[in-house]
Amino acid sequence: MKSINPATGEIIASYANMNSPEIATIAQQANEAQQKWRKRSFDERATLLRKVADLLESNKEEYAELMAYEMGKPLSQGISESEKCAWVCNYYANHAATFLENELIESDADKSYITYNPLGTVLAIMPWNFPFWQLFRFAAPALMAGNAAILKHASNVSGCALAIEELLHDAGIPESLFRTILADRDQVKSLIQTEHISAVTLTGSTRAGMSVASTAGNKIKKTVLELGGSDPYLVLADADIEKTAETCVTSRLINSGQSCIAAKRFIVVEDNYDPFLEKITELMKEKRIGDPFEEGTDVGPMAREDLRDELHDQVKKSIEAGAKCVLGGEIPARKGSYYPPTILTEVTEDMPAYEEELFGPVASVIKVKDEEEAIRIANDSDFGLGAAVFSRDADRAERIAAEELEAGCCFVNAFVKSDPRLPFGGIKQSGYGRELSHLGIKEFVNIKTVYRA
Ligand code: NDP
Repeated sequence: MKSINPATGEIIASYANMNSPEIATIAQQANEAQQKWRKRSFDERATLLRKVADLLESNKEEYAELMAYEMGKPLSQGISESEKCAWVCNYYANHAATFLENELIESDADKSYITYNPLGTVLAIMPWNFPFWQLFRFAAPALMAGNAAILKHASNVSGCALAIEELLHDAGIPESLFRTILADRDQVKSLIQTEHISAVTLTGSTRAGMSVASTAGNKIKKTVLELGGSDPYLVLADADIEKTAETCVTSRLINSGQSCIAAKRFIVVEDNYDPFLEKITELMKEKRIGDPFEEGTDVGPMAREDLRDELHDQVKKSIEAGAKCVLGGEIPARKGSYYPPTILTEVTEDMPAYEEELFGPVASVIKVKDEEEAIRIANDSDFGLGAAVFSRDADRAERIAAEELEAGCCFVNAFVKSDPRLPFGGIKQSGYGRELSHLGIKEFVNIKTVYRA
């Protein structure tokens, strides 16, 4: 496995896969460690999670550099990511005991209630786009609930994967309770099938989700899947264009466009179409593309060359099918896997820009005649992760968000973002299950009924 600096194309480090017996031993030892961990009080677990949070905060520059080297994230965004990981650790350290309190339920019994037992060892298959956050938003609740965890990270961010393991151990999390493995897909498939793994969580592409969930499903093991998205942003006729355009551009370009909940399809009611397009074009043009280590860089390189080429292919195919490219759309003549902020208009059905996830800084803009058509097109997608509605009439926009849109996270006059306090996840091909909030911590527990006659 190679870590390649996407800004230069240089190999930073190479890592050998672990061998299969080594992986099996790690899983077995995780199970043994979990048997002890589940007996420890919430207070004891919380003390360690707070230490994890302290390290994430105090080492944030170091982690941001690692992310910049391995996947091109601009430094300031890496620092924010590390801070957010500290937040989620503290959040679950503070709230896990309350979330998992026994719940008394009246029935024919003398006493009946729900109690929450940990499931065992959970395998976390994680992507490169938010190499720290994706892991911590799973691990903080899973560990607080009494589980062990094994991380199989994306093969281009092995340095981050090993740094996360070291940080957890430095904070005092028992060594065998959390481990990183360096493994290929066949090894992961075998591991899922062993008795040592109780459940699997995966964040990544729909393709990866299907493959992993079918392996786990064959063994009747629980999975949580957080997959891609093609989030629609509905711009209604009365939207405040200045604010809306700014919010939309920010969301489209976060992490150089490589976010499952980035704004991807802008569906604009015709009265507002021209001013909206003009404003987002102006804002996207202003963004500074450059080295993630340089201060002031808004858009870094994409994480890998193959991902950049795949995105460019989707853009070219959409243009061949009739889309108009009004900004960007050319691979810059420079080293590194850069792609410029790009805007496609006249996007219609049967184009990749309409049907597929564009995982990079490319905005698809679709003109519609009214609100009803906007809702129809928003829902005309295989994905259902996030969505947003913009209008000066917040009540009207909220009704659309709450009642009409087929997505797991629907925001009004704001871009979709994750927050430890709010559930996060999708429907349709965007996956199932929820992370974060009081619901996220209940994904990897046995929701046990106790009945005393
Ligand atoms: P993948 O979905 O292939 O990778 C995500 C993680 O899943 C990685 O750890 C990867 O490991 C692992 N994985 C993939 N397939 C399998 C499998 N069959 N068995 C076990 N593990 C597997 O993403 P890519 O990096 O290839 O990106 C492709 C596209 O996926 C993007 O363009 C984007 O559309 C989407 N994506 C969505 C993300 C999200 O946040 N929802 C995040 C990343 C990508 P390995 O690296 O070793 O292959």
